[in-house]
Amino acid sequence: MTVLNIEGEVPFFDYPGEVYEPWADELHEILSEIGGTGAFILQNHLKQFERDVARYQGAGFAVGVGNATDGLELALRCVDIGPGDEVVVSTHTFVATAAAVQRTGATPICVDIREDGLIDPGAVERAIGPNTRCIMPTQLNGAMCDMHALSRIADGAGIPLIEDAAQSLGADYSGKRCGTFGTAAVISFYPAKLLGCLGDGGVVLTNDESIAAHLALLRDHGRDPSGVVVAWGYNSRLDNLQAAFLNIKFQSYEASLSRRSQHVERYESVLSQVREVDVPRPLSRPEPWRSVHQNFEVLVERRTELARHLRAAGIATGVQWGGAGLHTMTQLGLKADCPVADEYFSKSLMLPLYVGLTVDQVDAVCRTIADFYGAG
Ligand SMILES: *Cc1c(COP(=O)(O)O)cnc(C)c1O
Repeated sequence: MTVLNIEGEVPFFDYPGEVYEPWADELHEILSEIGGTGAFILQNHLKQFERDVARYQGAGFAVGVGNATDGLELALRCVDIGPGDEVVVSTHTFVATAAAVQRTGATPICVDIREDGLIDPGAVERAIGPNTRCIMPTQLNGAMCDMHALSRIADGAGIPLIEDAAQSLGADYSGKRCGTFGTAAVISFYPAKLLGCLGDGGVVLTNDESIAAHLALLRDHGRDPSGVVVAWGYNSRLDNLQAAFLNIKFQSYEASLSRRSQHVERYESVLSQVREVDVPRPLSRPEPWRSVHQNFEVLVERRTELARHLRAAGIATGVQWGGAGLHTMTQLGLKADCPVADEYFSKSLMLPLYVGLTVDQVDAVCRTIADFYGAG
């Protein structure tokens, strides 16, 4: 995704504008403080961020890790997932979800989605077999899956639930946020995520103190707090510098979510009048409910032609995961029958969505879409 903010164009995402420029002075200040003190690894800014993000999510503990993919793998290892085990994942997720499973030696089992793009609890239930050891749903685009149904299925099977919440910091389901439903949840701070750091970063949330302690060991070479090696581990820590950057950006996180919501409301109100455009809404929305709008994904007729029409008007769009569910990635061996996802991926398109988008730009995108179908 190369993104230049050329006047008159609407980029798909604006990395400098979304991740760096609004905070440049504060970020430089903290860089010079940390550079000057040498506090790079497992230091106070990380501890503060872990405390704050756990409190924000209502989770007991947060453990910073190098990236969300590592976080998912470490969380799986905490519940002893390994060779011979199966972990159920949605076919509509980033390959990282399945890769984390594969790296433990276990087998990812892909299941279908509902029409709203989220994992289908019925398909999860049908996928449970004697070797199923975990369910790992993805809170897609910042919307929460049917957590009541998934929790019921996991409890019934006596297996843990681990949320891939990479895209959904701050999303709410029935008054609870990710990281408080199952064993753990993992959030990503990749630059284009809702809360982006200046590189890679992630956090694992959990309410279980012993899991938190195990995660802290695993991310730091299997060393306990006194530095004694007590297990095989990894090197996957959230840098103190990245945590310091995140502490700064986290202060305006709620404001950034509101801005994104406003854009989405505007998109929805205009596009609801265009027959060829369907805006999928999560099917289970118990109160209180909040989506956090990582991406604005719509289902459209003649997707490729529409994207081309928008491109010609200077508007960039994206198709998530290259337009294919995990179950179609035959080289990965994840074949499965997912007819709802096949239909979904033939129509899905992401429109530009970020804080710095202007109302005029949103209107221009909507107008160009209406135009396309009016002319078609
Ligand atoms: C971004 C993302 C990840 C991976 O996060 P990283 O921090 O880049 O490792 C995993 N799952 C989903 C759904 C994502 O969107």
